[in-house]
Amino acid sequence: MLQFISMEEAFGEIEERAGKRLISKAQVPLEEAVGRILAEPAVAQLSIPPFNNSARDGVVLSATGISAARSAAPIAIAGELRAGDSVEIANGVRGDAARIMTGAPVPEWGEAIVMIENLDLNDNGTVLVKQAPESGAWIRPQGSDIAEGSVILKPGRRIIPEHVQALASSGVVELVVHTKPRVGLCSTGEELVDVKSGPPGSGQIYDSNRPFMTAMMRSFGCDVVVSEHVGDTLNEMVGFLNRAMEASLDLVISSGAVSMGSYDFVKPALEAVGAEIVFHKVTQKPGKPLLFAILPNGTLYFGLPGNPVSTVVNCRFYVHYALSVMQQKPLETPLKLRLENDVDKPEGLAVFLKAQCIRGKGGAIVRALEGQESFQTMPLLEMNGWIVLSEHLGSMQAGDMVNFYPSNPRGLPDIF
Ligand code: AMP
Ligand code: MG
Repeated sequence: MLQFISMEEAFGEIEERAGKRLISKAQVPLEEAVGRILAEPAVAQLSIPPFNNSARDGVVLSATGISAARSAAPIAIAGELRAGDSVEIANGVRGDAARIMTGAPVPEWGEAIVMIENLDLNDNGTVLVKQAPESGAWIRPQGSDIAEGSVILKPGRRIIPEHVQALASSGVVELVVHTKPRVGLCSTGEELVDVKSGPPGSGQIYDSNRPFMTAMMRSFGCDVVVSEHVGDTLNEMVGFLNRAMEASLDLVISSGAVSMGSYDFVKPALEAVGAEIVFHKVTQKPGKPLLFAILPNGTLYFGLPGNPVSTVVNCRFYVHYALSVMQQKPLETPLKLRLENDVDKPEGLAVFLKAQCIRGKGGAIVRALEGQESFQTMPLLEMNGWIVLSEHLGSMQAGDMVNFYPSNPRGLPDIF
């Protein structure tokens, strides 16, 4: 078991273990794939456009037609091509000019399209082009957008409606996506009262970690299959672990009971069921006592320290990272933003600071909020992301560039 490892080492250990536990895959219809993570490459079944077609309503000209247009000579209209006409029909129209509609196939002889606004159609069946087109004008060449047989979306991408548009046009009707990760969670602590059965009595507090973990795991696209509160005894913790193992989960998280207190039973319980403790304690603030283990059935286990902000940070960064690796998602890269205020920080400890990305005069800047202790939840209501400073850095001054991660790892922050 590793102890007191750095944030970078912790990510490395998680990557190695999570990489061997990919979330299972399922083939689903295109529309149902939205919000899921692509598990196998999507391959274009058709080229886009599938045939040369017109980008405008107007006339299609041959090379001879373009020359005639240059000398302002009228050109005979050989026919009319509509969207939905076959390529064979288009090729059957022979001449130097034909009426053509947007989306209609361009005949083999077609060199350019002139839009309707730039021509005069004469009653005698000829057209006068006001300005001769460049060769290729307003023709959408076959395959110029998407090439048949090419990989158009790689595994790890979260499917959004815009993808459906491109995939559907290239004939992809089903996708292989990762199934929803199955997650189990528990909160530990005799002092906790369920939010539904409050108010807390003397010495008690509301269990806020369990609603939070449920919400966060769902926002990461997981199904929360097991959710319990367990008291501070070894037996209860072992009972939870056994139930978690029976539920064939991808990932288990618990909050609390991983520090050095007399009732910190998570580690002894993991050892009692034969789990492998990969690491315990990361040189970071908040959330130092973070524990990462592998259950005997191979399921990943995160023991998160119970302080509310520690639970948020460790879920947002380490649990999210594990789920990303398990779904082949590309690694998150931070935004580099200018710091608005000075930040005191010791070297040798990574810190996660509740932060607000705001509009400054010269662009976005980031402010570390007041109230950084791990029990202080008020700033969670004001923040839109985290400043993350590695252990190699010391105190920072206003104007320094820092790494910023939005609260929602899927997107940019709501900027204040
Ligand atoms: P622990 O990690 O169990 O030592 O808990 C550290 C601190 O977090 C203590 O003040 C606990 O009361 C608090 N805490 C632990 N679990 C929760 C929870 N589920 N909800 C709110 N606070 C908690
Ligand atoms: Mg506790």
